[in-house]
Amino acid sequence: MNQNLAHQRCFNHEEREAVARCPECKRHFCRECITEHDDRVICAACLKNLSQVPLLKRRGFVGAIRFAECVLGIFIVWFFFYLIGEGLLSMPDSFHESEIWNVNWIHKE
Ligand SMILES: [Zn+2]
Ligand SMILES: [Zn+2]
Repeated sequence: MNQNLAHQRCFNHEEREAVARCPECKRHFCRECITEHDDRVICAACLKNLSQVPLLKRRGFVGAIRFAECVLGIFIVWFFFYLIGEGLLSMPDSFHESEIWNVNWIHKE
């Protein structure tokens, strides 16, 4: 049986047509009230409930965040050392120049 969404109204907005049905609470919602979460559409209320009762799902999510932070940290450290390396390569010339400049300045006194 095919349900016609056009005749369904948003649970929060009676004047708006529903575009999707929340798989958790089975209510219909408009585009504004429904959000995508884990490759499925879910209403704001159920999304809130899911984030409050995370358990295993959240542990995996935190693990992914930790992994991303770790990779980002390694990248930042690598970039930092890369900049230092570049700085050391370009340093001798400027050091030398400033030394000459200082010597000349002292000599004029
Ligand atoms: Zn829902
Ligand atoms: Zn709505």
